Amino acid sequence: MRPDYFSKNSECLWIENLELSEICEEVQTPFYIYSQASIEAAANSYLKNAGNTDLICYSVKANSNINLLKILVQLGMGFDVVSVGELKRALKAGATANKIVFSGVGKSAADLAFAAEQKIYSINIESHQEIELIKNLPNNPRISLRINPDMAANTHPYIETGKSDCKFGISETEALEIAKTYSPEEINLVGISAHIGSQITDVSLFLELAEKLKNLATHLKNLGHNIDHLDVGGGLAIDYQLEKQYDPAQLVKDLKSSITDYDLLMEPGRSIVAQSGAVVTSVITKKTNGQRDFLVVDVGMNDLMRPALYSARHAIEEIKNSDNASKEYEVVGPVCETADSFGAGHLLNADAGDQLIIYSTGAYGSSMGSNYNSRPKPAEILVSKDKYTVIRKAESFEDLIKLEEI
Ligand SMILES: *Cc1c(COP(=O)(O)O)cnc(C)c1O
Repeated sequence: MRPDYFSKNSECLWIENLELSEICEEVQTPFYIYSQASIEAAANSYLKNAGNTDLICYSVKANSNINLLKILVQLGMGFDVVSVGELKRALKAGATANKIVFSGVGKSAADLAFAAEQKIYSINIESHQEIELIKNLPNNPRISLRINPDMAANTHPYIETGKSDCKFGISETEALEIAKTYSPEEINLVGISAHIGSQITDVSLFLELAEKLKNLATHLKNLGHNIDHLDVGGGLAIDYQLEKQYDPAQLVKDLKSSITDYDLLMEPGRSIVAQSGAVVTSVITKKTNGQRDFLVVDVGMNDLMRPALYSARHAIEEIKNSDNASKEYEVVGPVCETADSFGAGHLLNADAGDQLIIYSTGAYGSSMGSNYNSRPKPAEILVSKDKYTVIRKAESFEDLIKLEEI
């Protein structure tokens, strides 16, 4: 079921008193647009069944705009960060350090020292080397072992992260060895974490993972480590075709019935922000080459990389209907790459100058954006109740070159 804010047929698109077409008159396309109400609804669906000491840590890499992080801080969410840059963003948004977890397969000595200094909730350890670096730091930071549970998430190979031959985490065997090698006096081992991948549609995988984590936790406790939380990672899918809904509330409920002796920690990214955001773009031109009709739009793969990187397909509609009949188009961007395509077979009715909306682009959209082809990044706007605000200005040409020594 498509959330209301995304319904073309609903009387008011996004805002009570403002139509999307009116926003297009004020803000230049392309732009990202997010709905505060939708972000809050998604976040609350995780939070409502979580206990007081459980932590729902939004995965900052899905969308790291500080204004969006602030919304989540207000709701009491924690944050999962994978770089010092993201950690600093979360702090800047007002997050309390003891609600932040730091994952990542290549954390440097400086990264670890910075995180330890902040006294975050947990540093998720992904190699033996990291233990050695952590051991000598002051503050005795709380750590968790990120295990690679050797589970297939049946998702796109680029977003599988939990199989044994994948770079993330450490094996359960290695986790046990670490727990045997280092005493509770040497390391402050308080959790086990895992992240099996992204866009996971089979919810039972999370419960299977919970069983693995509980088993391992029992072993670590028997070795004297004071395990207080289990972190099942993120990865719950959303339906990019806008037909199905995967219910975070039910997932949290099921995990809570499975994990009773530890605090539950989750790291959702996509399922919080993907459907809360869209891209609005204008048709630059229409053309036909060979058998194919194209709509060339002003948003490109540099702004929205998922189709080019993962062969992802986003639903696209026109903002206003014209009198023409719909027909099938390949929607393509202006970037000089054949991969700069949002897919063929989109049934649309649009002319040059018309605006299109590309749905479900709130996650891994702007945060993956680049300046390829010297394209300035587009503006981002947030709709809250009956108004909208620009939460990131569109970049200018001067922004593009300002670090170049000329
Ligand atoms: C990316 C990532 C997540 C979030 O995944 P989603 O599919 O966006 O929910 C969670 N944890 C870690 C460690 C990640 O790298």
